[in-house]
Amino acid sequence: MPFHVETTDRLDIVDITDEVEAAIPDDFGDGLCTVFVQHTTAGVVVNEAEQRLLGDIERYLGELVPDEDGYAHDALDGNADSHLRALLLDESVSVPVRDGTLAVGTWQSILLLDCDGPRTRSVTVTCTS
Ligand code: ZN
Repeated sequence: MPFHVETTDRLDIVDITDEVEAAIPDDFGDGLCTVFVQHTTAGVVVNEAEQRLLGDIERYLGELVPDEDGYAHDALDGNADSHLRALLLDESVSVPVRDGTLAVGTWQSILLLDCDGPRTRSVTVTCTS
């Protein structure tokens, strides 16, 4: 079962670490947890959820991919920049699980990056031993 994340801006970053942690089955011991976003204009990364850094990441993606640059896909639904920004990310990350808990580093969080918000985004969590 996916969980859902509401985003609030066109380019928005949401810390989903707690939601992923909650999706790990209670009886799950050690293994690997794959977090997957079911979209073509969003991505997921592991990085630091520090507020100023999140602003820097949004600025960086915006600089790498300008909002409008004569993209062919814009003739269809006007969101080529969103697809291209998502292309720089990844649709999934895998995180080790130890004793049913995400084995992330002190400063590591699982971040959903919505490149075409605001929307409701679906995230699946698959745990394998
Ligand atoms: Zn599109």
